[in-house]
Amino acid sequence: MGEGDGVSTVVFFKEEEQLSEALTYFDLKDFKDKDVPVKLHMGEVRNKYHVKPDFVKKVVEEFKKLGAHPFLFDTTVAYNSPRKTKKGYQQVARLHGFSERKIGCRITIGDRGVVKTIEGRMFEVANEIFYATHIIAVTHVKGHVQAGFGGSIKNFGMGGVTRESKKTIHRGAEPLYNEKDCILCGECAKACPFNAIKVKDNWYWNSNACLGCGRCVNICPTEALSFRDSDLQYLLALSAKACVEGKKVFYINQIKNIARSCDCDPFAGPKICPDVGYVVSDDIVAVDKTSLDLIHEKKGRVFEKVNRVNPEKQVRFAHEAGLGNIKYELIEL
Ligand code: SF4
Ligand code: SF4
Repeated sequence: MGEGDGVSTVVFFKEEEQLSEALTYFDLKDFKDKDVPVKLHMGEVRNKYHVKPDFVKKVVEEFKKLGAHPFLFDTTVAYNSPRKTKKGYQQVARLHGFSERKIGCRITIGDRGVVKTIEGRMFEVANEIFYATHIIAVTHVKGHVQAGFGGSIKNFGMGGVTRESKKTIHRGAEPLYNEKDCILCGECAKACPFNAIKVKDNWYWNSNACLGCGRCVNICPTEALSFRDSDLQYLLALSAKACVEGKKVFYINQIKNIARSCDCDPFAGPKICPDVGYVVSDDIVAVDKTSLDLIHEKKGRVFEKVNRVNPEKQVRFAHEAGLGNIKYELIEL
């Protein structure tokens, strides 16, 4: 994994059958004999864009050939969903085709963790991630209403921690209001994707509706709003660091079925960019940066257009946190 101003290798291919060849560009020998979580999102009920079991099965088979013992892994979610409990998530996973019989390995859902502190902030990393020495990340790259886009950084930053930490990360990006600087322009209310702000004779905020996306803070012209803790994308980068720091992680980004919203959304919207393919790397920063660059090349800055959030921020924050290289050498198969 690159950690500074170096250049990391990223391999790009268009068809899933090329995964086997792509893996040969990396030294994966020491995955042998390890129990390896395959961190992925198995999709909210009715979401149709999440990674599909056939591809995940292929990933599992490839790593078994290397002598690894992979198992699928994700965490319970913080919002109301069948995936809020381990049992409910197992049912959703089965519904979406992720069963031991189909994939060839066990499927584990975690809801307990160990606290790790990064830059003064505490994140409860799921046990299965915390205690793993080697991890495989299979990530569906798509838009995200709050973070602009979701790639490998978000797969760990939100998906690798427990429900309590998920809530804390969102809460940290909620707005703090300073009445004396507010000119009641209403820009924050217009920008809020969840109608959590109303501006009339006064400024009103519904904490139950707010999902801590930070868009209102970023748009306020007078700095009457500030973050309770920090930008959501910054917290995601730190949380991802809590999950992957010191481990050997191999990242597989699937850049297909690119919708406006994430796999937690049953109605993620229409696709906003044609399929690109897959990128793989052992560098979380480089793999997400490449994913964004390939999407921008294909369709322009679609995530900013539809979600009005600059998705590059999380990549830059992750780089600055020492997680990897922004620069990459792209090998196209
Ligand atoms: S954008 Fe800022 S100044 Fe305008 S109403 Fe909202 S808080 Fe007040
Ligand atoms: S943080 Fe996001 S969800 Fe919360 S009030 Fe601001 S714009 Fe709305």
